[in-house]
Amino acid sequence: MAEPIGLRDGNVSRGGGSGELRQSNLTAILRYLRDHGPSSRHDTARGCGLGVSTMTDLVGDLRSRRLVVELDPIRRPGAGRPTRPIALDGEPWCVMGVHVEVDRVHVHGATVGGTDLWRETLPAVFADNHDGATVLADLLGAQLDRIPEGHQLVAVEIAVPGYVGPDGMTVTSRALGWDGAGVGKAVRAALAEAGLTDVSVGISSDFHLAGLYAARVLLNDPSSTVAAYFGGMSEVGSALVVNGEIFRGAGGGAGDLAHLHVQADGPQCWCGRHGCLNSVVRIQELLVRAGLRDADEAAELVLTDPEQAVGLLVEGARANQPEVCHALDQAGSSLGRAVDDVLGSVNPHAVILGGYLGHLAPFLMPALDRQLRARVHEGPYADTQILVTDEDPPVTAGAVLAARDACLYDPLALTTPLR
Ligand SMILES: [Zn+2]
Repeated sequence: MAEPIGLRDGNVSRGGGSGELRQSNLTAILRYLRDHGPSSRHDTARGCGLGVSTMTDLVGDLRSRRLVVELDPIRRPGAGRPTRPIALDGEPWCVMGVHVEVDRVHVHGATVGGTDLWRETLPAVFADNHDGATVLADLLGAQLDRIPEGHQLVAVEIAVPGYVGPDGMTVTSRALGWDGAGVGKAVRAALAEAGLTDVSVGISSDFHLAGLYAARVLLNDPSSTVAAYFGGMSEVGSALVVNGEIFRGAGGGAGDLAHLHVQADGPQCWCGRHGCLNSVVRIQELLVRAGLRDADEAAELVLTDPEQAVGLLVEGARANQPEVCHALDQAGSSLGRAVDDVLGSVNPHAVILGGYLGHLAPFLMPALDRQLRARVHEGPYADTQILVTDEDPPVTAGAVLAARDACLYDPLALTTPLR
């Protein structure tokens, strides 16, 4: 059977043996409980297409692994026997969500069940460091001491500002000066040195994980929704999230909507192109076009205080400064052009504007709406939702979600029966 393209986790058909069938049934139950919260066995079995006796056996296995817990009985009025709902447990199993930035690393430890264990931000020097992968691996190795007694590490997900190789283990990042850095291998080696050989290690682009988090939090029914995400602190990043999973494409590079061409003769972007969406709507560019800073000052401010940089634009727009309003109107147009192309190529249920685009959305939306007018007139696109969140992209939270998923999608390999 052919494998579905572009989804790394949980959507891979596992043909063949009964062990694989068992694994996919266990995962179906865990996904159902993740997406629906505490549920009756009856509803869960029906939602997963499982028979009652199979369900009893599988839930028994998941309970022995502390991945599922049976809640107190609920007695419904007029009904006979009280029923005991089941819910995700996962408390003994620990995951780490990691966000690598140019000069620091954020680490967020949590349980597979979703309880926060610790958060820490560590300074790190990566720029043009040829051995950056080892620097990161050593730093994560030292974090293993933070895992509380009685918890066992099962998965690590690392968010990087760049592209992940088709093997999912190497990183190329202009921001970090890395070209095919062997992050996966180095982190696995550091874990093995600590005696942890069965830990899942995943690496994703930071914006993929921000998009994953935004889609899971904002959409009513993420597991059957297609969403396009645009966000970022000062430059645009993007992702496609299909049925609650990052859509990665053939080589891991899908969802790179931030670098769609929107202006033939636009400024140059770090990606090497002229006139891509990011090059014309990044904060640095907007500050200059709004007459708020010259080019050097804008570059400096974005680097040192991106929040203040966004704040200057918001203030100017609220005060109706003509140059600021004009710059934001143009930016809304450019964003609208990109969104219009995304609607046509992907036909998502929702487009999510987060990060600084969420903060600026009130001033971008009129021009964006104008740009979409012809498109949303057509039936297939008429119900597309444009969702705005001004929450800053919580990349580590997205990494924790992906690490928890790794355990839910491979419970037999990553957990053991505890009783
Ligand atoms: Zn670009």
